[in-house]
Amino acid sequence: MTTGIVKDDRYLAHNLGAGHIEGPERLEIIHAAIERGLPFPCALIEPRPASREELEYIHAPEYVGLISRLAGRRYVELDQDTSMTAGSYEAARLAAGGAIRAADMIMEGEIGSAVALVRPPGHHAERGRAQGFCLFNNVAIAAEHLIRGRGLRRVLIADWDLHHGNGTQNAFYLRKDVLFFSTHRFPFYPGSGYWNEVGEGSGEGFTVNVPLTAGKGNEDYRFIYRNILGPIAAAYRPEFILVSAGFDIFAGDPLGGMEITGDGFGALAAELLTMARDHAQGRILFVLEGGYDPQGLSSGVLQVLAQLSATAHPPEVAADASLQTRAEIAPVLDVHKKYWPL
Ligand SMILES: [Zn+2]
Repeated sequence: MTTGIVKDDRYLAHNLGAGHIEGPERLEIIHAAIERGLPFPCALIEPRPASREELEYIHAPEYVGLISRLAGRRYVELDQDTSMTAGSYEAARLAAGGAIRAADMIMEGEIGSAVALVRPPGHHAERGRAQGFCLFNNVAIAAEHLIRGRGLRRVLIADWDLHHGNGTQNAFYLRKDVLFFSTHRFPFYPGSGYWNEVGEGSGEGFTVNVPLTAGKGNEDYRFIYRNILGPIAAAYRPEFILVSAGFDIFAGDPLGGMEITGDGFGALAAELLTMARDHAQGRILFVLEGGYDPQGLSSGVLQVLAQLSATAHPPEVAADASLQTRAEIAPVLDVHKKYWPL
């Protein structure tokens, strides 16, 4: 089945100036790599703006109202590192709407899987607050759309961004219909995501945090995805997998500290694709979050696309963690043994 790509120049209109690391050049680099030609066919997906109602799946009406009223303003600071300029509201609505549209096309069987190249990113955005370069929580909105709009009962969100997806975690902390799994650097921005944050009430056990110190490489990550997320996904049996794909775990990312290479992104995509095929009828959508190194972004996205299009063998990356990584994940396994067959 064809792989879809959400790709649109309107995402470039969210532009905070040359000094801001989350700039339009992040997408321009990926677009250029795609336009040089992919060795496999892909379907380009034109995004639509998310409606007010869809944004309010996750965000407070007062917050959506505030952001909409600021549309067109030249420069507004919302948070110490999150601002809006004239094109930001439209880009942010298209980011959430692009994820929704790709998810819908996968549900309809028009495409098998997709990568949504959207910005601004989303996973730090809270119910009533912009945070960490994020205005609307694209992945959380897509998950809620799959549940409310498509009647799904179990959606898995895997978040491999360097930073913890606090907004996504909080959106579903009390619920079991969305399982949130995150690997992230810790202690680090935004400060949340310790292993003892496991969800509450009927959501207890359905938030899985794997906090990691810097320096983790391809083999560590593959080990974690195969040996922690693998058995959890097998037991949860998600009907759809959404991936918060942040390429800031790339070795050399200016905000990073992890050691993932292009092959590592391909290996992680292969692990997740296997889970999607085994449990979710192959339904999987990768949504761009962070990533600030040009090479990390272009090689990472191309590797993910190559896996989805089934034109490349999974990279030869052993699922093997260092002793230090095994020590760091021991408490995760320990606390989640209570909920999952680990
Ligand atoms: Zn990040």
